Amino acid sequence: MIYFNIPPLVGEELDHIKTAIAAHKICGDGMFTKKCNAWIEEKTGTARALLTTSCTHALEMTAILCDIRPGDEVIMPSYTFVSTADAFVGRGATVVFVDVDPKTMNINADLIEDAITDKTKAVVPVHYAGVSCDMKKINAIAQKHNLYVIEDAAQGFGSTYHGKALGTLGDLGCYSFHETKNLSMGEGGALLIKDPHFAEKAEIIREKGTDRSKFFRGQVDKYTWVDYGSSYLPSEMNAAYLWAQLEKEREIYNARMRSWDAYYTALKPLMDEGIIELPFIPDGCVHNAHMFYIKVKDCAERTDLISYLKEHEIQAVFHYIPLHSAPAGIKFGRFHGQDVYTTRESERLLRLPLYYGLTVEEVAFISDRIKEFYKK
Ligand SMILES: *Cc1c(COP(=O)(O)O)cnc(C)c1O
Repeated sequence: MIYFNIPPLVGEELDHIKTAIAAHKICGDGMFTKKCNAWIEEKTGTARALLTTSCTHALEMTAILCDIRPGDEVIMPSYTFVSTADAFVGRGATVVFVDVDPKTMNINADLIEDAITDKTKAVVPVHYAGVSCDMKKINAIAQKHNLYVIEDAAQGFGSTYHGKALGTLGDLGCYSFHETKNLSMGEGGALLIKDPHFAEKAEIIREKGTDRSKFFRGQVDKYTWVDYGSSYLPSEMNAAYLWAQLEKEREIYNARMRSWDAYYTALKPLMDEGIIELPFIPDGCVHNAHMFYIKVKDCAERTDLISYLKEHEIQAVFHYIPLHSAPAGIKFGRFHGQDVYTTRESERLLRLPLYYGLTVEEVAFISDRIKEFYKK
């Protein structure tokens, strides 16, 4: 069976976890967490990076930092993972969905302004498949209407937009290191903070509402409860796993890119014949080979292709059910404007196996089966 995903493992993970255990430091914010934070800060150029227990939790932290309150509205695409919405719904906000651009499956920046009301507090672009949203347009709209821009860059680690790392383009950015993402720590994520005034507040929120981080730096002589917070620190054992991967970040990136390029080359003839569509990378965007998807004619064709690939021991999967049509989406949100593309395109998108360790032979095998499917 060629699985859709196998979590990345580069080899040194267990050694680093043993080091954490031997140092008797397995809770959060030890040596490995600090190394990971510093690595992300250096490579992305963000003012501050904090490892978190998940991207979902990093998003929750942004909702607290931006003081999202009941009645506020937050604009996002409907074609996203539930966490993008959950983080703001948890603070009592209404989520306002707008349609996607079918070329990238990212929020259509041209539709955002019309969805803004006097209750709107933030826009949450989601960089689908690690391909950047139109951040120039989104940031300009946000600036004009005084809104926060919070990037759901869960899939965007290692990608850039006009040379800048995804997650550093808005006010706040969130990465995921879940086992399905390019780099992993099992469950985990990171919060990227542009404005230093948010940094201290973020440390407090992440440490149960205490100024414990300042205490550990010797900036205060005792720590206390200073604000609302929760526990968003990952354990050192998770951070140790991630550290091994950060050390091999380019190797993982290059291997995934080889698979992505091999799919693109092999399947391009089907695109040229107008049978399927392949991912589109806009100018100025460098992606991270997070995902390789194809778009087929419709939902029925997709179901047939999934079965055909399954018969050949290949696991290919569809993706999001648009949030606005889900029970919680109906309860907590509304779709602004027409759903021209969100539902239609989501029903014909199919993701192919892509993980660190997938071989070019396997990519060729999968591509051949897809071509075979269309010959019959
Ligand atoms: C994976 C993902 C998340 C959630 O990440 P976790 O680390 O599992 O919480 C959120 N948004 C998007 C777009 C994702 O792909």
